[in-house]
Amino acid sequence: MGRGLLIRVGGRVAVIMPLSTLSGRAHAPQCETVSPQVGWDSLSASCRMAHMTLADFARRMPKAELHVHLEGAVRPETLLQLSRRNNIPLPATTLEELQSWYRFTDFANFVDVYLTLSECIHTIEDIELIAREFLKGQAAQNILYSEVTYTAYTHYIQKGLVFEEQLAALNRARAWGEEALGTQMRLIIDIPREVPADEGRMTTEWAIGAMGDGVVGLGLGGPEGEHPPEKFAEAFVMAQQAGLPCVPHAGETAGPNSIWSALRTCSAVRIGHGVRCLEDPALVEELRERQIPLEVCPTSNVCLGVVADLESHPLPQLIAEGLRVTINSDDPTLFDTTLTDEYLKIAAGFGFDRQDLQGLVMNAVHASLLDPGEKATMIESFESQLVTIHGTSSSGMA
Ligand SMILES: [Zn+2]
Repeated sequence: MGRGLLIRVGGRVAVIMPLSTLSGRAHAPQCETVSPQVGWDSLSASCRMAHMTLADFARRMPKAELHVHLEGAVRPETLLQLSRRNNIPLPATTLEELQSWYRFTDFANFVDVYLTLSECIHTIEDIELIAREFLKGQAAQNILYSEVTYTAYTHYIQKGLVFEEQLAALNRARAWGEEALGTQMRLIIDIPREVPADEGRMTTEWAIGAMGDGVVGLGLGGPEGEHPPEKFAEAFVMAQQAGLPCVPHAGETAGPNSIWSALRTCSAVRIGHGVRCLEDPALVEELRERQIPLEVCPTSNVCLGVVADLESHPLPQLIAEGLRVTINSDDPTLFDTTLTDEYLKIAAGFGFDRQDLQGLVMNAVHASLLDPGEKATMIESFESQLVTIHGTSSSGMA
């Protein structure tokens, strides 16, 4: 029997036991020890199972991510480089200083930091660079599919970058990611809540014009309580008429009313976060009945004070309520996390096992905005990778 893996979650150390322990399977006595001479790939399926810890499984399993912001995923090293190259001073000039700049006092502070770092992404070439680096990071985690939220409006208003050129840069990176790394990306163009209604309409027109060219959804982000979505009602009707799905943030820093508005005004097909739905049983019922997926981002919720710590995160309750939950990193470098880290943390923090994790992964694939044919291919590819890893498959948990 192998030793458990120690990982740190919310300031405490947890032990993840090997899968062989968790599932009660005996360690196959004839199995070789994994070593540089006897690599993982050369082991038989039963030996892989015997050796594999839950952490190994979380790292190796194919993943899909539906809620991740490109600007919030810029590598810290790249951000410092862009700041110097573009002569845009930041309040941080070293990695250590960046880390403390990324300790947020509240959501308003987070938005300030976000807008400041967006200034450093100054040219079309910078956009392509951060998109390529993002895709490398996703591929390294075996994330086969990402729906990336991108705030084209900010780069247009700050630097005058034309939307079509921004899109072309993202699509060059997207094609490269698919060809060279085997990871797919689609785009969600979001409206920042604080902009005037006509600029929300302009953003929506951009997104509609780019359907079929990488864009699969319209998002809504920014300060939630102060800026309900009704201001953009016309834009959401335009999107709906064009067949562009809306996936707004809601129920993160504001309560159930914000999620009701997202459903009614935006015709939301998924909710970004949505964790505060639990404050309203009627809303929970609505989300469960319609199986509206929630894009849950545990570490983000801790870093922005939505919950006090991971232990008090409502993820287990959301799942117990029968809601369709997906796991996401939101702004991984700003919250010092990755999608793999999110799975490791929830496994340790809530005692999730391999079946739970792969159920959450398959929920994300099913909740993606791929068209039905692409989705069927993606599901097949995930299931075949899962079979290769441990010999069974899953069709989702919620
Ligand atoms: Zn977000």
